[in-house]
Amino acid sequence: MAQEAHGAFYDLLAVRGVSRRDFIKYCSYLAATMGLTEAAVPQVAAALEKGAKLKPALWLNGGGCTGCTESMAQVETPDVATIVLELLSLNYFETIMAAAGEQAEKNIADTIEKGNFLLIYEGSVMTGEDGNTLLVNMHKGTDILKEAASAAQAVISVGACAVDGGWVAAHPNPAGAMGVQAFLAQEGIATPVVNLPCCPMNPEWVVTTLVQWLIVAEDDPATFLATAPLVQKTYSDYLTGAKVTLNYPAYVVDSTIHDNCPRRGHFENGNFVSEFGSEEEALGYCLYKVGCKGPQTFTQCPVTRWNRSVSWCVNSGGPCIGCGGLNWVDNNAPFFKRLSSMQMGGTIGNIQPSTVGAVVGGVAAAALVAHGLGMKAAGRTGDGPPMEQAKAYDRKRMKKGGDK
Ligand code: SF4
Ligand code: SF4
Repeated sequence: MAQEAHGAFYDLLAVRGVSRRDFIKYCSYLAATMGLTEAAVPQVAAALEKGAKLKPALWLNGGGCTGCTESMAQVETPDVATIVLELLSLNYFETIMAAAGEQAEKNIADTIEKGNFLLIYEGSVMTGEDGNTLLVNMHKGTDILKEAASAAQAVISVGACAVDGGWVAAHPNPAGAMGVQAFLAQEGIATPVVNLPCCPMNPEWVVTTLVQWLIVAEDDPATFLATAPLVQKTYSDYLTGAKVTLNYPAYVVDSTIHDNCPRRGHFENGNFVSEFGSEEEALGYCLYKVGCKGPQTFTQCPVTRWNRSVSWCVNSGGPCIGCGGLNWVDNNAPFFKRLSSMQMGGTIGNIQPSTVGAVVGGVAAAALVAHGLGMKAAGRTGDGPPMEQAKAYDRKRMKKGGDK
């Protein structure tokens, strides 16, 4: 029987144009991403086949642009990751499901009633106007999330908006957008949450998280939290000021963009792009001077890349705008300008660009010291992100009931 199921899975892959060899190659890639050795590849393959048993899942959308859905859907030909994800029984997926109206609502209700499902949440939680800033068929989005998350085994928050509100929560955040884990903590819902950052999130990270779930935890949330390589980051929610601890898969956030950037050599040698359209840009120099936030952004973008690993932001010529970080819009805008201070990885701490020169040496040092002096002259040093005062004022105002 097991052999038959095995065969059926490979037949399904073959029908979609994926060879067994491609599949095993993909399993090796996943194992490496998770920090496992080659010996774990058969386990990974087994876990993916296990996915064929149609794990029930709901994909709910909050406030956002559905870019994460696009990220999942925009592949020219189905690859292994797509197939594996199709093998989830996504009983509700607002943007792309065929069901509509009462049938769609019934799919949510039936899944919640049966339990034993995963909740994938895309977009921010829209709490403004007592939850009326997001209505789905006249139900508050916040109520749908509370009901589904309470019954789910676990929640996977996909994309920056689901992580901490993302761009939807940018100042002045009129819709009261916040992240899923912060919202559930506020509501006293203890269902475990795993966060996958970036705008949009990387579909490979969704697949890897599912594989971790199936291999390491054997479908058990408590085991997943206890044994999966997760890291935690604490921040103050921008809306409520409450301290929230977020869970991330370790492999996604364990190094900076800068650590793995193919232009890193240019950074070290002091070869920078100073303006777009320049010869330096054509030569593929480092984008730090045109606003790259790679040194302070902890994600695996250069390693995983997008669109079947074809490219990623810096590779396509744009600086990293730091969408994998927290409060990324307020902290990183204007995107194509250097910041007044920069967090250089996890070891050096919060430094002014003028001090970067002291650690990179040579021409780069001179260039960055000059850059630091320029920043000082422009009045951009020393004050940190300029939004803090305004946000504190808004928090106070919203606590008093907002604008009347
Ligand atoms: S500053 Fe940006 S472009 Fe330059 S090496 Fe670092 S990540 Fe790459
Ligand atoms: S490279 Fe930077 S801007 Fe691009 S997706 Fe990653 S974190 Fe976001």
